[in-house]
Amino acid sequence: MEHKINAYNNLLELVGNTPLIKLNKIADNLEGNFYAKVEGFNPGHSSKDRIALYIIEEAERRGILKKGSTIIETTSGNTGFSIAMISIIKGYECILAVSSKSSKDKIDMLRSMGAKVYVCPAHVSADDPRSYYEVAKRLHEETEGSIYINQYFNDLNAEAHYKSTGPEIWNQTNGHITHLVACSGTGGTISGTAKYLKEQNPNIRVIGVDAYGSVLKKYHETGELDTKEIYPYRIEGLGKNLIPTATNFKVIDEFIKVTDEESAHTAREISRTEGLFVGYTSGAVMQAVRQLEEMGEFNENSNVVVIFPDHGSRYMSKIYSDQWMSDQGFFDSKNVEEPQKIEFVK
Ligand code: PMP
Repeated sequence: MEHKINAYNNLLELVGNTPLIKLNKIADNLEGNFYAKVEGFNPGHSSKDRIALYIIEEAERRGILKKGSTIIETTSGNTGFSIAMISIIKGYECILAVSSKSSKDKIDMLRSMGAKVYVCPAHVSADDPRSYYEVAKRLHEETEGSIYINQYFNDLNAEAHYKSTGPEIWNQTNGHITHLVACSGTGGTISGTAKYLKEQNPNIRVIGVDAYGSVLKKYHETGELDTKEIYPYRIEGLGKNLIPTATNFKVIDEFIKVTDEESAHTAREISRTEGLFVGYTSGAVMQAVRQLEEMGEFNENSNVVVIFPDHGSRYMSKIYSDQWMSDQGFFDSKNVEEPQKIEFVK
């Protein structure tokens, strides 16, 4: 006899429906009310679970994916982890073509999740047959019944957020949201969420967060892809050196740029003040909020929703390592917290 057990059938039932959490201490000196959509609560610890599941299930609906088929993507980041996790549960092969710049930790993590990883040379042009783009394309062509997620150029990316993140935020705020502040990488999160929210209320202000060294803000303002804007930066997942078709620039009112250093300190501050252990780009989004406050964007009636894209555990050897912070020179300024000393008991 089967007993009634309150259990999920598998992890995938937990994708999405993440909590909206009021920000308290970190928002103390800001005018208005601030709420974080905390995407680290997804089973794969980031917002990318939503798009990976949506794109894979759309391919199933269209009859492209069959049991044992292969899913291919070019990422060592959150999307790779989500695809690998979903592939395990649904019984697909997962191939990830990653850059040789990817840390060993990340490659080990993806391999632990059953992915087959191709490490491709970082310092070749995108059209070189050895680049991770070209390797992924070739594997896709060679592997019958495979799909290539291609998150920067796939319309289903923003559609996933239009169908989930947008309605969730609208319902969680009972329609009282006045501002959405979110990072833009592929642009899927902000574009899909903002499109839904603006259809409910066109007055909601949507602000995208971009990195110094990325082309997005200037492109939004001028329509020009200015390659002079491009230089290396530390934050991963934010900004881009090309224009992703997944970004709908029309639903974004403004972009604001943040620095590597301030974003890193702000992420650490969110962990310390709210007890929310978040990733680097969550620091970026909160840093953007502080800059917007100084620009007079908010008042006491503002209900601002920020999206925290992933969990802090992915950044132990980066922003949560005092050594790494120090190597970047991020403790050099007078105005930053001193790293806490470790007490060794003898
Ligand atoms: N933060 C992190 C940590 C990410 O991995 C990404 C995805 N590149 C983003 C923010 C931005 O999300 P999107 O790609 O939907 O713009």
